[in-house]
Amino acid sequence: MKYVDEFRDGELARHIGERLAAEVQPDRAYRFMEFCGGHTHALSRYGVLDLLPSQIRMIHGPGCPVCVLPIGRIDMAIDLALNRGAIVCTYGDTLRVPASEGLSMMRAKARGADIRMVLSPTDALAVARAHPEREVVFFAIGFETTTPPTALIVQQADREGLGNFSVLCSHVLTPAAIDHILTGAAVAGEPGVELDGFVGPAHVSIIIGWAPYVPFAQRWHKSVVIAGFEPLDIMQAILMLVRQVNEGRAEVENEFIRAVTREGNVAAQRRVDEVFEVRESFEWRGLGTIPHSALRLRERYASFDAERRFELPYRTVPDHKACECGPILRGVRQPTDCKLFGNVCTPDHPVGSCMVSSEGACAAHYSYGRFRT
Ligand code: SF4
Repeated sequence: MKYVDEFRDGELARHIGERLAAEVQPDRAYRFMEFCGGHTHALSRYGVLDLLPSQIRMIHGPGCPVCVLPIGRIDMAIDLALNRGAIVCTYGDTLRVPASEGLSMMRAKARGADIRMVLSPTDALAVARAHPEREVVFFAIGFETTTPPTALIVQQADREGLGNFSVLCSHVLTPAAIDHILTGAAVAGEPGVELDGFVGPAHVSIIIGWAPYVPFAQRWHKSVVIAGFEPLDIMQAILMLVRQVNEGRAEVENEFIRAVTREGNVAAQRRVDEVFEVRESFEWRGLGTIPHSALRLRERYASFDAERRFELPYRTVPDHKACECGPILRGVRQPTDCKLFGNVCTPDHPVGSCMVSSEGACAAHYSYGRFRT
């Protein structure tokens, strides 16, 4: 099958592994963060880590949409469904993320809240059309990849004059998170993670292009290689990073040329800009409050903003005391550092958000048995 066989060729992977072994300098360490949970997943699933020389260490980043969603935002969605009679629609992974008081959206649904899983924001719009007598809220989460569809349905709802539809917007921005990690300012008193470079996001970069990474590559002197999600994409990106480090370069390179351009999807960016503006600050799970790191609806679309419409207050809620999701999302700990990993906390019974989604570092480690090594 095109785009699967071509990018999962074991012989080619071994060949790149040999190149890596030949080119790494024996007396130095190479520390690369894969920002995306999709890359974390692929590294574990395809055994890419087994093909890397011991000098290369891959570090998980925070690029998993449900992992970075703080409990307080999920509580807001549950409040809408449980206490205010709204139908709340959202993506499947969001339903299982633990919230306050032992709840999750799934458990709130079991208590009678009208919470529905959707595969696309347009499904939420269809629910609003089908139930004009009810308030319908789309709980919108995710990075730049999922933001354009949300923008489109807000504009569609506006055109149709759908008065019972709104969006609880929790869309976040990738460059702000990377910049925050590089400042090492995630948590006061805790040193930031030491990195030589990044495997840059795939899908996010299709939307925003690779140009937004240039400022922090230059400012922090870090190498960045945008990579696709197939194993050969990642192997090639790591080889490109090793070469940059060896040559003392800190540039943005694009391995994922079949999908990513310098400018990205300009039409999608325009739609997003029409509907959303950047928030002053936003709380991320594990990373704390980051300035200019998330979106909210513009005044023009205020009537579709669930936070304003329902006057929803935001309350910071700490994670489970033993859960290490925060340090894992900042790249300073591994899933196996958590004493709940694989015993109390499993994909069937997640305690923290990193065990929920297949993009979460704990779920990837658990599902593909990386922890056994
Ligand atoms: Fe949190 Fe579970 Fe991961 Fe531990 S194993 S850090 S409790 S998600």
